[in-house]
Amino acid sequence: MATESSKLSPIIATAAKKFATARDIHTVGDLLAFWPRRYRTRESDLGAVTPGEYLVGVAEVKSASTRPMKARKGTMLNVVITDGTHDLDVTFFKAWGHEKALVPGARGIFAGTVGVYNRRLQLTHPGYTMLDDFDAGDRKALIPIYRAVGSLHTWTVTESVRRVLDVLDDVPDALPASVRERRRLMSRMDALRGIHTPDSWPEVEEARRRLRYEEAFVLQVTLAQRRRAAEGQVTTARPGRAGGLLEAFDARLPFELTAGQREVGSTIAEEMAREVPMHRLLQGEVGSGKTVVALRAMLTAVDSGGQAALLAPTEVLAAQHHRTITRMLGDLAEGGMLGGADSATRVALLTGSQSTAERRRALLDIAVGDAGIVVGTHALLEEHVDFLDLALVVVDEQHRFGVEQRDALRGKGKLPPHVLVMTATPIPRTVAMTVFGDLETSTLRELPAGRAPIATHVVPEDRPGWMERTWARVGEEVRGGRQAYVVCPRIGDDGGDDGADLRVETDADGDAAAAPQRPMHGVLALHEALLAEPALAGLTVEVLHGRMPADEKDAVMGRFQRGETQVLVATTVIEVGVDVPNASVMVVMDADRFGVSQLHQLRGRVGRGGFPGLCLLVTGTDAEAAMTRLNAVAATTDGFELARLDLSQRREGDILGAAQSGRRTQLEFLHVLEHEDVIEAAREDAFALVAADPGLDGQPLLAAAVRARVDAEQAAWLERG
Ligand code: ADP
Ligand code: MG
Repeated sequence: MATESSKLSPIIATAAKKFATARDIHTVGDLLAFWPRRYRTRESDLGAVTPGEYLVGVAEVKSASTRPMKARKGTMLNVVITDGTHDLDVTFFKAWGHEKALVPGARGIFAGTVGVYNRRLQLTHPGYTMLDDFDAGDRKALIPIYRAVGSLHTWTVTESVRRVLDVLDDVPDALPASVRERRRLMSRMDALRGIHTPDSWPEVEEARRRLRYEEAFVLQVTLAQRRRAAEGQVTTARPGRAGGLLEAFDARLPFELTAGQREVGSTIAEEMAREVPMHRLLQGEVGSGKTVVALRAMLTAVDSGGQAALLAPTEVLAAQHHRTITRMLGDLAEGGMLGGADSATRVALLTGSQSTAERRRALLDIAVGDAGIVVGTHALLEEHVDFLDLALVVVDEQHRFGVEQRDALRGKGKLPPHVLVMTATPIPRTVAMTVFGDLETSTLRELPAGRAPIATHVVPEDRPGWMERTWARVGEEVRGGRQAYVVCPRIGDDGGDDGADLRVETDADGDAAAAPQRPMHGVLALHEALLAEPALAGLTVEVLHGRMPADEKDAVMGRFQRGETQVLVATTVIEVGVDVPNASVMVVMDADRFGVSQLHQLRGRVGRGGFPGLCLLVTGTDAEAAMTRLNAVAATTDGFELARLDLSQRREGDILGAAQSGRRTQLEFLHVLEHEDVIEAAREDAFALVAADPGLDGQPLLAAAVRARVDAEQAAWLERG
């Protein structure tokens, strides 16, 4: 008998090599996790086949006849197969070996490329297997169809799986019996049989339900343990201080905090005042004012004698945060300087591209504690960055960071610091429960009062007059005192793109299909074009992209922020977080090349200053899928709705984010948008179990499954470097 770790080669001899090379499948367990893509129940529709198509279909032999060939020696075999309505010719130039199997009334699966002969469609020498070979003539049985494994036909896969199931001992079941009973789930062994050799649809469904639950459950147990470990940690309480920086800051805020900002602020303050480190996720609509919430938390940390670090995903954003925070704090950020306020601190910036002198200065300020607030990019994570006393870590726009990076920064405190994670886009609840399931969540729902709405329109690039009108609108806005962004998907210096979330259509297998054909607009060329654009004559137009030297980027962004530049032609470096309230119009070129959430994020850069925002999505395509996406963005400004739409179009691995989903850890059965009820049930069971048995001592099989998942995540993480 075999177990899941048994090698395949002794069981299925020759096919084993193909599984290994084509699909990286080596063990019984690997093969059993090679799930069928779909099932066939009936004859395939032969009326729908087209020349050149690779057909894998179930059909019945209607007639078969042999005759001697004219030009050559030998006998050929002419077979007609049928789906009951449509017929298809099948020809073998050597009848030998086939005539016995292909007799009228026999049923089989046929696979081959459809050709044309004498203006009739036909299959020549297709691969086939007669169903009776393993189905004992049971016409009701579902036939699993697998993805291709090198040159193996799907039925060879089926036969291999059957042989493996025949010799397999009962497989261990990671789901606790109590959970299986409560949720009425079949055993893992039954589920494997149900998936690979089902007798009926309900059996497939039940098998899937069981495997889906298992995925959700193992994931939630992992999160429950992570949460529990975090709750067991001890840190320094950071209760703030009366008469400190926070009070001074609040007193000079030029606006009223929204009710949401106040509420989240007090939740954060309460949690930071405890000796258990805070682990909170702050999500909110674009423009809902997350930065102020974060800054107030950072001031609480400083008021408590500690330091706060703000981790930003890009240099542009880090530099902007540094500028904004310094400006908002005014003399509160001039600690140790003449004219600084009494309780003042300093705000340090640390990025990878600073000069050695700047860097050394910043590192020193951080190490001796003169810098109460440190803003930076990944550079903050490096080993030689030493904090005197790190009290709070804020991770801005989390979608570009993984759990591991959060942990790296967390490790820089003497005791684990409090952690506040902010997402760039609102995320559906169940996604939050899976991706950020170890964090508590707060949501900012309202936008600050006085926010003007953003109108969004789709602009067909090739229609005469539309682009002229677009640049004319930009000209009007700018001459009215506002500023404009023009976003392109690429730089255009042939050095590659600039981090745009460019969509490459993928086929069902996830392999990249044909790449997009039409060349995309690049910032460099468009900048040239706009300098010559009559509608923009006399305006200052500048370029910003990720490959410019850091000081140049800084200078460009600074000029735009001060209103010295009117039009900024940029890549998606401005996607998240950039905050220039005077900007009121955005043109996105090749908008179809961006994801829905990304467009929403981009457009969130305008309409921040009380002026109505305008976003023009320029596209050269009229492909239906692309237009549906663009029209959806134009139709609503509800980030939650758009996030849902965006995620529903992605593959699961992408939803869970690169950090959570290595190749091996992708969810096969669980869809985080569709299976809300499963995720909730699994979360309830998982958290209850971990509360009762934190070390999973009573569940060694489950403990092993959880370990395997965590290891796979870590391996995927290391692989990516
Ligand atoms: P996001 O949540 O997208 O990060 P920001 O923090 O960048 O949003 O805030 C967007 C803009 O709104 C900033 O210019 C900020 O100063 C301003 N803002 C934040 N809170 C308020 C408020 N309560 N009232 C008015 N303006 C606010
Ligand atoms: Mg922000």
